[in-house]
Amino acid sequence: FDQLDGFIWMDGEFVKWSEAKIHVLTHGLHYGSSVFEGERAYGGEIFKLTEHTERLHESARIMGFKIPFSVAEIDESCRQLLKKQGFQDAYVRPIAWRGSDSLGVSAPNSRIHCAIAIWQWPSYFDPEQRLKGIRLDIAEYRRPDPRTAPSHAKASGLYMICTISKHAAEAKGYSDAMMLDWRGQVAEATGANIFFARDGKLHTPKADCFLNGITRRTVIELAKARGIEVAERVIMPEELEDFEECFLCGTAAEVTPVAEIGPYRFRPGPLCETMMEDYMEAVQPRRAVAAE
Ligand code: PMP
Repeated sequence: FDQLDGFIWMDGEFVKWSEAKIHVLTHGLHYGSSVFEGERAYGGEIFKLTEHTERLHESARIMGFKIPFSVAEIDESCRQLLKKQGFQDAYVRPIAWRGSDSLGVSAPNSRIHCAIAIWQWPSYFDPEQRLKGIRLDIAEYRRPDPRTAPSHAKASGLYMICTISKHAAEAKGYSDAMMLDWRGQVAEATGANIFFARDGKLHTPKADCFLNGITRRTVIELAKARGIEVAERVIMPEELEDFEECFLCGTAAEVTPVAEIGPYRFRPGPLCETMMEDYMEAVQPRRAVAAE
């Protein structure tokens, strides 16, 4: 993956993809002092770009560092890089991290670096499986208590348990894993939020210990615009047998129906289809709806 053609924007400059390197003593690598974003471009425009860049800045603030490029500068660099890469539809990955100026847990004066990479990542889940609904395992690891970890930052360190959980699920033949939180309540998948449906109404866990995804907020808004009720509430895993439909949503996953979570079964139906269609329409350039 580090030998592709094209460019990466790094600390204000476009460098050749294969030359965008960091030192092995980078603080972000040793101590997880790194935050990132995941965005998608559709038809040459990045969906909700500024919201993503603002979240990147906010994640850095939570982690105690300041990105040396403004939101407007990062937005503009993303747009320029998308053009330079020559893609219409693509995945956009900005990242910011503490550098290699000193290596101890405390490194308050380390330089903060920022980079953006853009590549083609058509569908997060296999498109054919997606229509049938994907299969999820239930992860062993749980989303931590917000008093234990900076839950609302999109911080690289929080993805450690996501990678372990996704690998474990894949090794058993599942596409992904649903994670519970530290209280045992349904939380999210390893890189996407989760919704359930019953009797024409959507239900989703309150985002109080995991990322309140931009896609999650878009889906809620789109549902409400159609008069579909959305309950943001505590969902216990035992309740899953009462739901008819289930889907994941996130920038990479978009809206992906779920057919199975551990012992529970769902049938992708009208609400999955409606939200898939409305989301794909919303992401098209100039027809985007604004999330709050
Ligand atoms: N939860 C996790 C753990 C994620 O990685 C993502 C993807 N960024 C999401 C939720 C969904 O967030 P968004 O809709 O902003 O992409």
